[in-house]
Amino acid sequence: MKTIGKVTVLPKLPDAIARLSELAYNVYWSWTPRAQELYQALDPQIWERFQHNPVRTLLEVPRARLDAVAADPDYLGRYTKVMADFDAYMGKKDTWAAQNAAALGRVAYFSMEYAFHESLPIYSGGLGVLAGDHCKSASDLGLPFVAVGLLFHQGYFRQSINKDGWQEEAYDTLDLTTLPITPARDAFGVEVRFSMPIQGRQVFIRVWELKVGRIPVYLLDTNVPENDDHDRQLTARLYGGNQEWRIQQELILGVGGVRALRLLGVDANVFHMNEGHASFLGLERIRELVAGGLDFRTALEAVASGTLFTTHTPVPAGNDAFALDLMDRYLGEWPAQLATSREELYELARHDQTWGQSFSMTVLALRLSRAANGVSELHGDVSRKMWNFLFDGASEREVPIGHVTNGAHTLTFLSQNLRDLYDTALASDWTERLEDPAVWEAVNSISDADLARVQAEQKMDMIRFVRERLRVQAERNGASAADIAATEDVLSPDALIIGFARRFATYKRATLLFRDKARLARLVNDPERPVQFVFAGKAHPADNPGKAFIQEIYRVSQEPEFKGKIVILENYDMHVARHLVQGVDVWLNNPRRPLEASGTSGMKASFNGSPNFSVLDGWWREGYDGTNGWPIGDEREYADLNSQDDADSYSMYETLEKDIVPLYHRRDAQGFNHDWLAISRRAMVTVSPQYSMQRQVIDYVQKYYLPLTKRAATVNANTRTLAREIGSWKTWVRQQWPHVQLTANAQMPASIEPGQTVRVTAHVQPAGIQTGEILVEAVLERGDERSRVPLHFTGDGNYAADLPLNESGLYAIGVRAFPVYPGLSSEFETGLAKWA
Ligand SMILES: *Cc1c(COP(=O)(O)O)cnc(C)c1O
Repeated sequence: MKTIGKVTVLPKLPDAIARLSELAYNVYWSWTPRAQELYQALDPQIWERFQHNPVRTLLEVPRARLDAVAADPDYLGRYTKVMADFDAYMGKKDTWAAQNAAALGRVAYFSMEYAFHESLPIYSGGLGVLAGDHCKSASDLGLPFVAVGLLFHQGYFRQSINKDGWQEEAYDTLDLTTLPITPARDAFGVEVRFSMPIQGRQVFIRVWELKVGRIPVYLLDTNVPENDDHDRQLTARLYGGNQEWRIQQELILGVGGVRALRLLGVDANVFHMNEGHASFLGLERIRELVAGGLDFRTALEAVASGTLFTTHTPVPAGNDAFALDLMDRYLGEWPAQLATSREELYELARHDQTWGQSFSMTVLALRLSRAANGVSELHGDVSRKMWNFLFDGASEREVPIGHVTNGAHTLTFLSQNLRDLYDTALASDWTERLEDPAVWEAVNSISDADLARVQAEQKMDMIRFVRERLRVQAERNGASAADIAATEDVLSPDALIIGFARRFATYKRATLLFRDKARLARLVNDPERPVQFVFAGKAHPADNPGKAFIQEIYRVSQEPEFKGKIVILENYDMHVARHLVQGVDVWLNNPRRPLEASGTSGMKASFNGSPNFSVLDGWWREGYDGTNGWPIGDEREYADLNSQDDADSYSMYETLEKDIVPLYHRRDAQGFNHDWLAISRRAMVTVSPQYSMQRQVIDYVQKYYLPLTKRAATVNANTRTLAREIGSWKTWVRQQWPHVQLTANAQMPASIEPGQTVRVTAHVQPAGIQTGEILVEAVLERGDERSRVPLHFTGDGNYAADLPLNESGLYAIGVRAFPVYPGLSSEFETGLAKWA
């Protein structure tokens, strides 16, 4: 039929279970398996067929079945319990935020992708999972928080692997009326719809609301009848299309997202840009203030004062940089609207590439925020190095980019079996104190028998899941009857099963394990101590090298000596992820260091008792403590990628053969593997609190959201006095700074004893900048140590200080000057500095 409209008519539920529809529209169920079971129980086949989507399940289940469960005391008992928990969660008053962050302003979080659940496929990988998990913990902690994203009606893509092992992509069009979303409404109950100009035409946008526990996520959608076909497709696919597509999606996210919040009447104090995709939100907020009469530079200061930027990857593909002539097509009207020039606007995003000046979304984000962070300690270092060029005079470690190491949302990834065990073994409020190490200490009191039992159940669930998936795949690919039957015997609960699943970006080196196939064959075919591997992951549709990795693994998995022992699953998504992290014995990650900014899947495995076996990159460099898993390689830096791959794969085989495999296959007199369980417990005790999303969000609150709330209030107080001052001061200082002259002198005796001082003097020709606005300091370096000593003004442009040299050794002394102003986020903010 040619449809002219669609409407969802939810069944009128029997009174006894009436609230199933309310619950279906809150993805609280996505981290509450007991809630999911209520829908699954209605009809397990429908539940499976529609990606475990409660709304869809309610729409499909016949009335008679609803009546039947409404009369089933067992079902009603479970229903009542879930609803009571849900109400307690939603109504909780003494949340962490109420107790610990009362001064926190509202945070508006912007991200291009979000992973909440497999039935809402608007994510590609770790970045989306992180964003979804961040929202879930923001809800758990009771933060004043809203999130903004796009609703991709064709999602990312569904992956299948054909009989040649090649990835094929399918785009299913989602039926939005069957998703757990509702049209977003303003304070008057009116659906929020608006239009925004892109390249001079009006693009119409509708806004959906997704409830994530206590917080709303607003998803923008251009697939509305007012738009022509082209514009209806703008929000069709995540990371699909060309650069122009990308720019338009980023405009919709950043500019459209801010407009949507305004129409919804949502005021925010802190704006958090999750990756550079969201940077245009800063331009839109500046535009608003300029429209209200402010000048560009004051508006910029006002906006940046409350903005945080999180960078997620050093990999170039993750840092959008567009050619200027391309930007002209999309930002042509913007300089006038911002009351600035094209040059000044483009300077804000300037990143010179080998092919010329580019408009970098990451640079723009750094310029339009007053706080920035990477996602692990090492990634903080890597980011400071990478963006050092934006901060004149700053050494690598002084670049004002900090770090908050990522976490994962514990309850989203924890198996129900383990959750049940924790209910008996941990403090009764453990689900609310996930970040507290003391809570997790109690894992040590779980007996070998209980832990081994739960792990065996989890593993068997995973094996059944893998077999079923492989059977479906084999049937679709027209495999022989024998091959289809063989999927029944894939993997063995007696083997050590190692999991590897993630996006197949090439730096993640999915095929590193296959560098020495003969050695690998010995491992998997050892009759006494077998090892098996499960792989899964999607390559970006345009990434042929990534697809070649998939093919290589697929081909190996079909070779006689590996068949049934190394397998690759199709369509890695949150559902597959949960099964794998819950069921495998060890989680493997072997990225090319230091390109894995954090990684999170290993955390999820450790929550479930599977130790991590990984390159010391991202989070694992911090998480590994010698007792809770295994490292691959060391922290050396390699100039040559091939030697790095060699060294890492060699280390991987060695550790497998000498440590992991023998340890796994040990059994004590009772038939348990006490030593293995000890490592498993260590993984749970050490990783669960520290790498919980709850710890991560608390870190963001304390390190960034609270200080930025305060900073934004100060800078914007009294009709933005400080913003004005800083804005005009920077303009003046930028003009004058090239004329500032700095000379310095150190009176060095030929030799000094420890404890003596060296007198350093400097002279500044300030070019009209006030004395109090220039910071002159000496920088003292001895080996890796570095200290900074301010020089005192002694009149007439002169400065001096006595530098204490307390230790023996070789010192290097430098003198530099910064322009400073009260209220700057740091002396590096202006990006101006001068060395003598
Ligand atoms: C956790 C997760 C990721 C991230 O995996 P990494 O190993 O950290 O890259 C990607 N996709 C899904 C579905 C996940 O659940």
